[in-house]
Amino acid sequence: MLETCYCGRTGELEDRNLVSDDDGREALECPRCGHLDHLSWLQNPEGVFAEAKRRAAEHRVSAA
Ligand SMILES: [Zn+2]
Repeated sequence: MLETCYCGRTGELEDRNLVSDDDGREALECPRCGHLDHLSWLQNPEGVFAEAKRRAAEHRVSAA
């Protein structure tokens, strides 16, 4: 899913950094400006978070 951030970065939501905010809620962080998106505008944010998790794990493996 492509999404354009406020900073102008365009990319797949799932390629953003998966983080937890101060309330422990999951959010995706733009790697360029650090903007946090809780995906509350999505009907099924769980699927996007799950995919972001999968990709993060994949990146860790390929970087090792
Ligand atoms: Zn951004």
